Amino acid sequence: MQTITLSSSKKHELIDITSKVEETVKNSKVREGICFVYVPHATAALTINENADQNIQTDIIKAINKIVPEHDDYSHDEVDNNAAAHIKSTIIGVSKAIPVSNGKLQLGTWQNIFFTEWDGPRNNRKVLIDILKK
Ligand code: ZN
Repeated sequence: MQTITLSSSKKHELIDITSKVEETVKNSKVREGICFVYVPHATAALTINENADQNIQTDIIKAINKIVPEHDDYSHDEVDNNAAAHIKSTIIGVSKAIPVSNGKLQLGTWQNIFFTEWDGPRNNRKVLIDILKK
């Protein structure tokens, strides 16, 4: 298993980790298998989407924030004031499984892997990557 450590610089942010995941796949020497990517955090998540037009990142954040408004009378806000971030992490999800074939991630032309931050800025965010050989 490989661990990527990253820092977020905004409260809400999508961080493209595709090249780091690709590097892990390459170093594993696995030709055929599954790349399992996992975020061990309760206020962050993972998504796969486009990075060619960066407006999509902004639009995703905008839409998620409409679905889950900040401070909407959540009980957890009385504990550490970040209930919305927990709910967004649950909705988006903390793991992805991506096929590996011919030693490469089988992402579509317009697909990139993003760490999604919902309670930043934070240091020491982790992404765990496991390459399972077929
Ligand atoms: Zn919390």
